[in-house]
Amino acid sequence: MKKLGFGMMRLPLTDPKDQTQVDRPQARAMMDAFLARGFTYVDTAYFYHGKESERVVKDILASRYPRESYYLADKMPITSLREKGTREEQERIFDEQLEKCGVDYFDRYLVHCVNAENYRAAKRLDTFGFLAKKRDEGKLRHLGFSYHDNAALLDQILTEHPEVEFVQLQLNYLDWEDERIQSRKCYETVVRHGKKVVVMEPVKGGRLARLPEEAEKLLRAVHPDWSPASWAIRFAASLPEVEVVLSGMSDMAQLEENTGFMSDVPPLTEEETALLAQVAEILSALPAVACTACRYCVDGCPRNIPIPDYFALYNGDQMALRRGLPVQKEAYQRLAETGGKASACVKCRQCETACPQHLKVVDALARVAQTYEG
Ligand code: SF4
Ligand code: SF4
Repeated sequence: MKKLGFGMMRLPLTDPKDQTQVDRPQARAMMDAFLARGFTYVDTAYFYHGKESERVVKDILASRYPRESYYLADKMPITSLREKGTREEQERIFDEQLEKCGVDYFDRYLVHCVNAENYRAAKRLDTFGFLAKKRDEGKLRHLGFSYHDNAALLDQILTEHPEVEFVQLQLNYLDWEDERIQSRKCYETVVRHGKKVVVMEPVKGGRLARLPEEAEKLLRAVHPDWSPASWAIRFAASLPEVEVVLSGMSDMAQLEENTGFMSDVPPLTEEETALLAQVAEILSALPAVACTACRYCVDGCPRNIPIPDYFALYNGDQMALRRGLPVQKEAYQRLAETGGKASACVKCRQCETACPQHLKVVDALARVAQTYEG
């Protein structure tokens, strides 16, 4: 299997204000190009694109290609079952996912977004036992989970669940030594248990695609034709136990670039990896919000605040400020037309409960409001 996977969570939209309005003709053309170049791994989830992603998979992939020509990964939305979910609901969701995707089985199936709280819920609902049974029945081929917590808990989970075959980790060169995300420690834990790794967020929600000028200069000096995003994906793909690196590609240009260099990607050299550690140091010095633009926080916000869009703008402007440029207040106004302003936040903290990065969203929005509304 080639090491690049197509994440179905950042597909092109016909209406940028509505995540359910996927530009299906464009997405179809992207899928065709992806498969034509020999790539096979496609990753979706119950909540992606306002619950439309699985239907899009059926439309652009399952209804058009032989089942054995691609690997499809889907996920159990354990977060939504955390409070009052039942085993019956778990069964209903799984069946609904098969139907929405238009398949009889999943090649990969994951418990979505496992952390301490969600692991307690998975234990209560016997989610791993339920999925192992589905594997025995042939409804899924390989069982795993996506993970957002520390390495110690990961070690405990893998010890308690030897039936798990792979773990999907947030892994990129900025989070590699980050004590909150613990990319390196988590990777080493999975390897110690003899399991494989699938990588999510190799470009950290786009943050590693737009670097401060001095950081980009360092990289371009070595490889003028490598984009910052391609450096980030190459870093993840270089790790020997990584099976596949997911990229949520949003347009044909990204897909063409990624499938181009990932067709045959040699591991980074020691010198190249050391250069990325320098870039990580430059990035860590910026007062950025560590948002990966997963959008898990958006649906439940009573003020309809476009939280990740504000954070992306804010992060980009931190780099501009270093160069003595003003922040983009007009861009902020345009974003504010799609929902509430940052100052409209009522501090209900629903977003913070939903955030897999454990971000202090309310405090970060206060900084956004101060920057653009002051
Ligand atoms: S705390 Fe603010 S941003 Fe978060 S969900 Fe509530 S209103 Fe929305
Ligand atoms: S604030 Fe958290 S939940 Fe919301 S998009 Fe960013 S990382 Fe995802």
